[in-house]
Amino acid sequence: MSIADRRTPEPGDGLSWVDTSTQLVLDLIAQGVTELAGFEVAAISVARGHDLEVVAVSGNESARAQLEGSRTPLAMTVELIELAESWGTLKFVPHEMSVPHLSNNDWVPDFTPLAGPDAWYPEDMLFAPILDTSGQLRGIVAVDLPRDGRRPGPEQRRTLERYALQAGRAVLTALDRERLADQMAMATHARNVVRKASRELSLDRLLVECQSELVAGFRAMGMWIHTLDDDTAAGAGSMFSERDVEITLPPQLVSLSNLNARRAWAERRADVISAHQVQGRDLTTAEAEAVLDFLATLGIASILFVPLGQGSRCLGAMVLTRGFEDPEWTEAETSVALDVGSDLGHAISHAQAFAREQQLVRELQEVDSYKSELVATLSHELKTPLTSILGNLELLEDMTDLPEDGQRSLAAIDRSAHRIMRVVDDLMLLAKVEDPVQGMNVRPVDIGAIVDDVVELNDVGVHRRRLAISVRRPAHPVLAAGDADDIDRVIANIISNATKYTKDGGRIVITVEQIGAEVVFTCSDNGIGIAEGDLPLLFREFFRSTNPSALSVPGTGLGLAIVERIVTRHGGRVDVTSRRGVGSTFRVVLPAANPGPRQGPGALVQPVAEHSA
Ligand code: ADP
Repeated sequence: MSIADRRTPEPGDGLSWVDTSTQLVLDLIAQGVTELAGFEVAAISVARGHDLEVVAVSGNESARAQLEGSRTPLAMTVELIELAESWGTLKFVPHEMSVPHLSNNDWVPDFTPLAGPDAWYPEDMLFAPILDTSGQLRGIVAVDLPRDGRRPGPEQRRTLERYALQAGRAVLTALDRERLADQMAMATHARNVVRKASRELSLDRLLVECQSELVAGFRAMGMWIHTLDDDTAAGAGSMFSERDVEITLPPQLVSLSNLNARRAWAERRADVISAHQVQGRDLTTAEAEAVLDFLATLGIASILFVPLGQGSRCLGAMVLTRGFEDPEWTEAETSVALDVGSDLGHAISHAQAFAREQQLVRELQEVDSYKSELVATLSHELKTPLTSILGNLELLEDMTDLPEDGQRSLAAIDRSAHRIMRVVDDLMLLAKVEDPVQGMNVRPVDIGAIVDDVVELNDVGVHRRRLAISVRRPAHPVLAAGDADDIDRVIANIISNATKYTKDGGRIVITVEQIGAEVVFTCSDNGIGIAEGDLPLLFREFFRSTNPSALSVPGTGLGLAIVERIVTRHGGRVDVTSRRGVGSTFRVVLPAANPGPRQGPGALVQPVAEHSA
């Protein structure tokens, strides 16, 4: 026996022979050969990568010790088969045929041959190749040391051929099973990659993340994904092929692909399209030929066409390709691919929804900025003629010779014009502060000082209406980081509202303090309060309360909208607590200019001013 060449297996050569039931079958076959076919030694080898590995040896101990696990390059055996004499399916290499390069490390029994032309020689080799359906060498059954010392006769050869046939079947089945298990493991791995990648929100990124794993996992030559962008059969969709590979489907194949994807998704089936397997699908012969012709131009022999979808909606197709030398697609692969199709469908639908959402946000932002521009332009346009109206009104009011009716009309016009002016001013300010940064001059702003100024400005009204305003703040400045004009506007609006919506004789308490990295301004009144249902709407433009006593007080409904915009663009927050008939508390929190340690409010806050009638 001289076809085994001992060498250590290398990593990646192939998997070790793990299937114990197959091992048992092969051991039994090898044993059968030695017991019944009249040979002392039988060895069964299996293709592993580029080698043949001996996996079962029966008989002679020294042969077993040397042969088991040893490897021979496959190419060497292929060469031997060509040189050998063919005895039906058996191959015989007689000793007189010198094959010197094969004889170095071989197990060659040590005995003296008998006399005669049919005597068996130590260098004689007899084996049966195991070929798969495509004629590839997948293993061999080799024998040595005939018990009678002679080359086998016809009867013995037939027995040997029977055993070789059995061994061949067992080897091919085991190899197939092993290959399938291996493929399933890879395809399942690819599926897991797709599942992980499903968190990607952009379709491009999602496919970049999993394309190469899918190609490797399905042992494909390449792949592409074709998405349907709408529900019409003619939806052009998008094509995502592997990096550096540009795939452009001709238009008739695009609609064919769309149609087939929809049908395949509805039936939850993946299609193999190759020269051998196109029958039974929805394609006509002409269509199938057109597909195969197109694929051939790309060097593709077969495709696994996998529909992608979610629920009842087909989203496109994934096409895995194989070349002319590659194996056919197995049922197991087809079924895992279908699962991948639904995982991918899920991820694609997620990514598409995200893209739509982003688009909507962009559109809304555009509409919003258009609205702000419109408001800004309009209020500017109104401002100039209004200023002229108010100026001329003043002139008219100075004319003392106007009849009383005329004076009353003038006063009414004046009130309305001032009201329009207030709305225009507020609209202009709202448009300005809607921009997150425009016109901001951020520096340390002393909130306590601003509160004092605002309270002083309201002084006349406060005295007239017998309101009690108390301000509690530390003696030292409480500095917020912000724009002084903006913050002045916030505090003025809130204090002015407290005075507007508190009945005569009411009380307003204002506090200013720094808590950690924040400056907190609160304004509490015991005024008319706000109905619970109005609270969520309070900061909307033009919102005015449903409370009739609030409505009787003049206002534009823009003050709190301005407050909210300003506070937001400072990175702060504003909130309100209120009860109808009891009072309201507005609280504004702004970032402090000097973030200090957290202070208990009681330690720093002390009343420093009390304004009351
Ligand atoms: P307005 O110009 O109407 O005062 P705002 O935007 O400043 O507009 O306020 C919106 C509404 O919130 C007011 O119309 C009023 O009903 C209610 N509101 C604001 N502040 C108070 C408060 N301190 N007490 C009761 N209601 C208030």
